Amino acid sequence: MERIVEIIRGAEKVLVVGHIMPDGDDISSVLSLSKGLKLIGKEVMSGIDWKIPWVFEELEEVKDIVDYQKFLNSGFDPDLMVVVDVSSPDRIGNFQELIGKVPVVVIDHHATNDEFADYNWVDRSFGACAQMVFRVNKELGVEYDENLATINLMGVLTDTGFLRFPNADARVYEDATELVKLGGKPHKISSMILENKRTEQFHLFADVLEKMKTELDGKLVYSYITQDMYKKHGCTDEDSTGFVHELRSIRGVEVAVMFMEIKPRLVHVSMRSKEWFDLSSFAKSIGGGGHPRAAGASIEGKDVFEVMNYVVPKLKEEMSRSEKS
Ligand code: 5GP
Ligand code: MN
Repeated sequence: MERIVEIIRGAEKVLVVGHIMPDGDDISSVLSLSKGLKLIGKEVMSGIDWKIPWVFEELEEVKDIVDYQKFLNSGFDPDLMVVVDVSSPDRIGNFQELIGKVPVVVIDHHATNDEFADYNWVDRSFGACAQMVFRVNKELGVEYDENLATINLMGVLTDTGFLRFPNADARVYEDATELVKLGGKPHKISSMILENKRTEQFHLFADVLEKMKTELDGKLVYSYITQDMYKKHGCTDEDSTGFVHELRSIRGVEVAVMFMEIKPRLVHVSMRSKEWFDLSSFAKSIGGGGHPRAAGASIEGKDVFEVMNYVVPKLKEEMSRSEKS
């Protein structure tokens, strides 16, 4: 960490980049680091090469995030790119084009991180990347106000399932407490993310439940969403991010999987496990990545049924093997 803090300290114009299909921890990490760097006088741009899910639009700072095209149009000429919560270069979309042209720092906590940057601070023991950003900001001497504390807290809460997933260790609780003491508002985040659903999402979820299948005596549960289903219910992939958690919450389930055709012939596979199955290596074997209990992959050129036919048997086999060993 000391090394990357020195590199960030030495830069003047910093581009802070997150991943495609951004989640709460990623948006929190991008915005917290961007804001921290601005507070210590740097010129900063925040980039995510994907549409920001509507739930996060309540955060004013979200409108300052640019995609790659907007970044190019802005003429901003960074002397450093800091990539947060990202395990491999394909996850930053077209910002990949800057690799090799500007020095790149990565701050990440993914088990599958392949250390693709010039300077990597990768620590898999952190529940959220936002905890790592919190440490970088403090080391840089950033003074936290209520707004920055709330934005930073968002990542700590969302990546730990609001402090209840197995990654919610003592350090997570300590960081959350410290951020609340600095003015962070957990209720603002929980009401924005957990109690802000559209009725269309429930109708889509009802459809998902109807299509749900179980395997291995209920240890594996999965379902899917086609493009037609999204259209029928007036939804997009932004509306279905939490569904996989609901499936995992079923008694006896070890692994839950959602297959979502987020664009024609682009299927996102979102996976969660409960106790023992290591999803990070399984996700890697199908071209994705992630953490032991939360991982995913995006598969192009196949429809949802083709992807299920490929992934489900493979997963059943891996689960049976890993249960026996
Ligand atoms: P989610 O299911 O919420 O999309 O993703 C769960 C976890 O897996 C996240 O930590 C995310 O970064 C990772 N992940 C999801 N999709 C991909 C992917 O296509 N490639 C890689 N490397 N990681 C992914
Ligand atoms: Mn994360």
